Amino acid sequence: MSTVTTKPGRKPAPSPLSNGKAPAGKPLPPKPVLGKGASRGPGKTAAAEMKHPIFDELAFPSDPNNLYRQTVGSMLQAADLMGLPHELKIILAQPKNEIMVHFPVRMDDGEFRLFKGYRVQHNNALGPYKGGLRFHHDVHLDDVKSLSFLMTMKCSLVGVPFGGGKGGIKVDPYKHSKAEMQRIVRRFTAAIAHDIGPDYDIPAPDVGSTAQHMAWIADTYSSISEGAGKNTMGVVTGKPVEIGGSLGREKATGQGVVDTLVEMLPEIGVDIKGCRFSVLGYGNVGSWSGRIMQDKGAKMIAAMDHTGGVRSDGGIDAHALALHVQKTGGVAGFRGATAIGKDEFYKTKVDVFIPAALEQMIQEPEAKMLNCKVLAEGANAPTTPGGERILEARGVEVLPAILCNAGGVTVSYFEWVQNKTSHQWELETVDRELNKHMVGAARRVRDARKKYKCTLRTAAYIGALERLQAAYAVRGIFP
Ligand code: NAD
Repeated sequence: MSTVTTKPGRKPAPSPLSNGKAPAGKPLPPKPVLGKGASRGPGKTAAAEMKHPIFDELAFPSDPNNLYRQTVGSMLQAADLMGLPHELKIILAQPKNEIMVHFPVRMDDGEFRLFKGYRVQHNNALGPYKGGLRFHHDVHLDDVKSLSFLMTMKCSLVGVPFGGGKGGIKVDPYKHSKAEMQRIVRRFTAAIAHDIGPDYDIPAPDVGSTAQHMAWIADTYSSISEGAGKNTMGVVTGKPVEIGGSLGREKATGQGVVDTLVEMLPEIGVDIKGCRFSVLGYGNVGSWSGRIMQDKGAKMIAAMDHTGGVRSDGGIDAHALALHVQKTGGVAGFRGATAIGKDEFYKTKVDVFIPAALEQMIQEPEAKMLNCKVLAEGANAPTTPGGERILEARGVEVLPAILCNAGGVTVSYFEWVQNKTSHQWELETVDRELNKHMVGAARRVRDARKKYKCTLRTAAYIGALERLQAAYAVRGIFP
């Protein structure tokens, strides 16, 4: 295991759709519905939240655009507001383990290439480390740290007995043959085999990784680990159903986004039936959110991914667009809508905007252009503090990722339980139990917001921190 230093923050890669024009969105009238009286906590602003004594104490990178600093900053705001003890703030501000591996893999042409992989284990006070694996050419330690931190918070908020972890391989999975990807995934699994396990750390899919990749991880682990030959399929979730995957896991994150919206929209004065929405990123989370929203009577007006944007005021068929993306790899070229550029996508008037692509995509310029009432974070950390400040001033309600996209890990937990009990649940059972967790979490967030008069993001962190604080209160801190 090698502990490595944190690199300075990166801005997300510019979308190929960027037209380079200055943002020119019309400000929406302020609309403090759920947000009435909301604040970031006494006297806090986005600029102030970028300064915290804990950052100096733990020598955080000073770049305010650093994703890890931004993510932890939001948690510290909540921690200050609820009076979380200093020792818990410092424990939660850094992951327990940062594992970085380099491993060689033979390519189809016989040459060897060296790959870099990560597994960050943030916290396991509530249960085994749990979180996805990102396969992306631009994955960095800071991304993985932020995502593992968010997993700790998410699992705590929705009440599943897991801690937080995340990992990844610096690789573009679309540039390798299936055989090369299989060797890369299996070799990575071998490199981290001693650091994962069904009762210790349980990976799952994330951006760029699939159920097939999880099957290769499970097979490799069950061949070489100490548990070889035993039932170790629970080492990963998000597996194909044929080897112990759960029904409903593939759509679970999108289902959770919609369950959250169904619970929260009435208070914001939006009816899901007939509501207009747009989606940024039309992969697993975006396309399932879109399809399930449509099935509830909502209308998708615009969608955008790394290949382009499309819009139709009469509504885009979310199922047809998902099929198109499966066939072609992106939304560009979809015949059932008109091609649009980045600015037009963000300016499109909708009730609900669902970012479901990568981190830090909603910065100040995008926040100024957005013309929506609610932003439901399907992706992890899509909104920067600066972007959020603008949205807040414009009365846009932000449903935070640790609430909104917790459906995936919740059904991963159900999969793990099914693996442990060798019993497969019906899809109706999965959906019903998922809804219970999502609605329960949404109510916890709403209650915290009422009590602390804060934003929904701060309230969600308070909901998560309360459970972690209770666990530490009885566990104590070793020795
Ligand atoms: P995915 O790989 O299936 O989809 C990612 C989408 O983002 C694709 O449509 C891609 O085109 C789009 N994208 C990438 N770069 C872009 C750019 N520059 N401009 C516009 N679009 C761009 O990944 P996913 O599993 O749907 O994950 C999406 C987000 O949701 C990530 O933040 C992930 O961490 C988070 N998340 C995923 C799950 C899950 O179960 N898959 C669970 C919780 C959170």
